[in-house]
Amino acid sequence: AFDANAVPQAPEDPLFGLMAAFRRDPDPKKVDLGIGAYRDDNAKPWILPVVKLAEDRLRNDPDLNHEYLPIAGLPEFTAASQKLVLGGDSPAIKEKRVTSLQTISGTGAVHLGALFLAKFYKTKTERLAYFSAPTWANHFQIFANVGLAYKTYPYFDKQTKGLDFDGTFAAIRDAPEGSIIVLHACAHNPTGVDPTQEQWKKIAALIREKKHFPFFDTAYQGFASGDLATDGWAIRYFIEQGFELCIAQSYAKNFGLYGERAGCFHFVTSPASDAEVTIKRVASQLAILQRSEISNPPAYGARIASTVLNDPELFKEWEANLKTMSGRIKEMRTELRKKLEDMGTPGTWNHITEQIGMFSFTGLSEKQVLKIREDSHVYMTNNGRISMAGLNTHNVDYFAKAVDKVIR
Ligand code: PMP
Repeated sequence: AFDANAVPQAPEDPLFGLMAAFRRDPDPKKVDLGIGAYRDDNAKPWILPVVKLAEDRLRNDPDLNHEYLPIAGLPEFTAASQKLVLGGDSPAIKEKRVTSLQTISGTGAVHLGALFLAKFYKTKTERLAYFSAPTWANHFQIFANVGLAYKTYPYFDKQTKGLDFDGTFAAIRDAPEGSIIVLHACAHNPTGVDPTQEQWKKIAALIREKKHFPFFDTAYQGFASGDLATDGWAIRYFIEQGFELCIAQSYAKNFGLYGERAGCFHFVTSPASDAEVTIKRVASQLAILQRSEISNPPAYGARIASTVLNDPELFKEWEANLKTMSGRIKEMRTELRKKLEDMGTPGTWNHITEQIGMFSFTGLSEKQVLKIREDSHVYMTNNGRISMAGLNTHNVDYFAKAVDKVIR
């Protein structure tokens, strides 16, 4: 018989544990820099104005009902998602070399991709996936759960608080041929450090040479720089180079649809005379995996995103909303750096403005993170990552002083 009592206690998810600790803290000055969710200048969740407009339209649409979506999701949504991530004039779309399934946000897309690779991706020697060190912690458990072995490639340089390009390059070069290389398309989580376009080109050439398989995780398109094409550049460059690859796309951050779980998985095959046949086969297998796991994806979030993506007016409004979010975060980076530099806080602070996206890797040690939590009621993950969106004009000064105090 199954002895459920023998199931070992698993550790609490560190990030969600941190959120709970923040909620329990009665101190009015407390600052939440833990979870990666956008907050407005009053530390409140922000419903994008364009999302409200889309919701109004959906509410008044007499043709909507609660029927199941197709297994691959809402067709208008997946088609618009392809265009968004690959570019409207992408040769891959024209040549019908892409297949896309709506997923349970970005997490579900990473999972579906990993599951597909676990089942169908064959290599001559050891089959390994490579994640940046550090990476979004969930990558490890998602790949482990589907039985894909992984290693890491160096990514963050503790000295410069920037990219360890030589380390990245050497590890990808030395990985067994045909390794799965997981890449953050932009706004790397947790470091906020991205390769430059020149570095991306070198990485792409190396991946090609080693016959590796690129797996892009894109959770921040438009949210990072405020510009959809800029944040989509790396993926579009790889596509231009004719790579076969897959993409996990999330709408949690750039639409503020966190809890609605809107996302998309794309598989793109290389240009070839039989590419269309290949992609149909891939699509047929993905459909079976999707059916066995979720049957069909949830409708609400995808309908909102689809309404916006397919309407030129709403799309423009969305781009403006993206500028609001990314702009506020950039202002906070500038403010924080300035305050630390003005106080003469020991260390260098240029990385705060050079890093991009939701997060900054401050360089604070775990000891300092725990001390700042205890002394100043500032909550950040133990690796020293702060969610920039948790800072605002009311608390950035308090936070800078808390950092200064814990460092001196
Ligand atoms: N990948 C990365 C790198 C992320 O940062 C996130 C969001 N934290 C995700 C994927 C997916 O998040 P979600 O499932 O909420 O879309």
